[in-house]
Amino acid sequence: MKKILAVFAHPDDEVFGPGGTMAKYGHEGVEIHILCATRGESGDEKNFKFQISNNKFEDNKLGKRREKELLRSAEILGIKSVEFLNFIDGQLCNNLYHKLADKISRKIISFKPQIILTNERLGISGHLDHIAVSMTTTYAYLKTKIAQKLYYYCMNVKFREKALDNYFIYFPEGYQENQITTKINYEKYWDYKKRAMKMHESQLKDVTALLSRFSRQPKIDHFILQYYQNLKPELPETDFFSGVSIK
Ligand SMILES: [Zn+2]
Repeated sequence: MKKILAVFAHPDDEVFGPGGTMAKYGHEGVEIHILCATRGESGDEKNFKFQISNNKFEDNKLGKRREKELLRSAEILGIKSVEFLNFIDGQLCNNLYHKLADKISRKIISFKPQIILTNERLGISGHLDHIAVSMTTTYAYLKTKIAQKLYYYCMNVKFREKALDNYFIYFPEGYQENQITTKINYEKYWDYKKRAMKMHESQLKDVTALLSRFSRQPKIDHFILQYYQNLKPELPETDFFSGVSIK
């Protein structure tokens, strides 16, 4: 059975990022499991400040709403299951890294994926939670030595539009063609990506902006094969499973 473990920081990362690729593999019968480190509680600044000042994360309405949004999106993408790791959005700090890495490692050991997928090291948008998840997932991949490949989802410098400059404080430049090892065409699955994106109703502003951006771009997701073991990759490639042995 082909299996992918995808590790993200927030609900919406699964589809605002490599959603086309998720849909392609999900609908081709690959068993995909998503680990989501947080419930995206701070996805609304006013709400986040209120939660922080009143220490009300346990009774978090936005978190619960976003949890449901991810489950709906995952269903459209053909994802087999989603698990929340119960960290708080924006609170992934140094002393939680081992706790996070342990939870990811345990999932790798029980699920035994051939492929692990997360964001590239700069966290796509520079979001610190994305960076933390990338780092801890890399650590877990190297420590468990179970998966055959570790992929980073990344943005091609050509598709990194000027409009993103003011999204956060610093939006990384994106990756050059010669740094990208793997391109996955999701043209046939674009409709699933669109539908799944729209499930994230609490993030309507981002959904609208991203839909217009993705509509203008070729339907290709870009990845870096960061690590691999027990195989010889032929790069560049167009399939996560090329060269992978399936038991
Ligand atoms: Zn995110």
